[in-house]
Amino acid sequence: MSEPAGRADRLAARVAEREIDRLLVTNLVNVAWLTGFTGTNGACLVEPGRHLFLTDFRYAERAAEIEGWEVEIVTGEWLKGVAAALAGRVGVEDGHVTLRDYGRLRELAGDEVEVVPAGGDVEDLRRVKDPAEIEAVAAAAELTDSIYLELIERGLTGRTEEEVARYAVARMREMGAEPSFPPIVASGPNGASPHAEPGPREIGLGELVTIDMGSRLDGYCSDCTRTFATGPEGGLDDRAGGIYEVTLAANLAGLEATRAGALGSEVDAVARKLIADAGHGDRFGHGLGHGVGLEIHEAPRLGPRSEDELRTGEIVTVEPGIYLPGETGVRIEDMVVVGAEGVARNFSTVPKALTFVA
Ligand code: ZN
Ligand code: ZN
Repeated sequence: MSEPAGRADRLAARVAEREIDRLLVTNLVNVAWLTGFTGTNGACLVEPGRHLFLTDFRYAERAAEIEGWEVEIVTGEWLKGVAAALAGRVGVEDGHVTLRDYGRLRELAGDEVEVVPAGGDVEDLRRVKDPAEIEAVAAAAELTDSIYLELIERGLTGRTEEEVARYAVARMREMGAEPSFPPIVASGPNGASPHAEPGPREIGLGELVTIDMGSRLDGYCSDCTRTFATGPEGGLDDRAGGIYEVTLAANLAGLEATRAGALGSEVDAVARKLIADAGHGDRFGHGLGHGVGLEIHEAPRLGPRSEDELRTGEIVTVEPGIYLPGETGVRIEDMVVVGAEGVARNFSTVPKALTFVA
């Protein structure tokens, strides 16, 4: 991975606005985003005019390839080496550093150095994707969609949930990807649980089957959910068919409301209202969506309490669901790029009209 240009400078500009001299970045996802480094031990110390990358001897060669960063190889105790590089008032990622490391870092850095909590800036910068990141997510989504089409082609009835999930994961690996999270395959009454784990249940006829899966390719994640009906067309009971149509309408309304400037809570409310109006308000127990990037769940959030204001270039999911305990469930999830006027691009190409699968 080459050095992602400009990211450290943008972070340094944020540091300059805060009451700290430099920021110590230790969350490895943030380190990877800043430097392209994907090893298991590294940290960044960022301030205006200086970008220092620290790692240990195992990564000396890889570290030398990171452009635009001064590199320091720590020998001996890692935290001691990191502490030795600190000076002045140093912010640390308080959402990530353990209490133990925080205490140890303060102790090792000595009285001259002030270590203060100052996390969140990298996560915030990561929200808006650059064109290369958008293409990386698009490739992961395309790969996942091709597996959805294979699942439709192979049929679901008579297979166990586990078998369907295993097949999907195997296909991802054959195509050079990894699952971005363990796939969910929830059939019949299992669909009533949003986080159902695939089990030994054999998928029957005339059921709804919710499949939620994504790939990770070149570090970037994708996320998509489709709910299918099994058996011949028309073989689904009206109640299941009804909640499918309401969920689909909520998905479309949520997409319609997704645009730069909208609050996460506002987009959520638009979709949630349709589900509530249909009498299922208490059966949609999770937020409408989340950001996707290097992590499967990242900022911003779309949910009833989210004050995140959407920005152009963010990648978010829109995934309403209705879950009827003991009966069945539906979730429909698209992953999109936020644009100034609305959705700039929808990565999820698998059809959303209720599809009957053999
Ligand atoms: Zn999902
Ligand atoms: Zn999701």
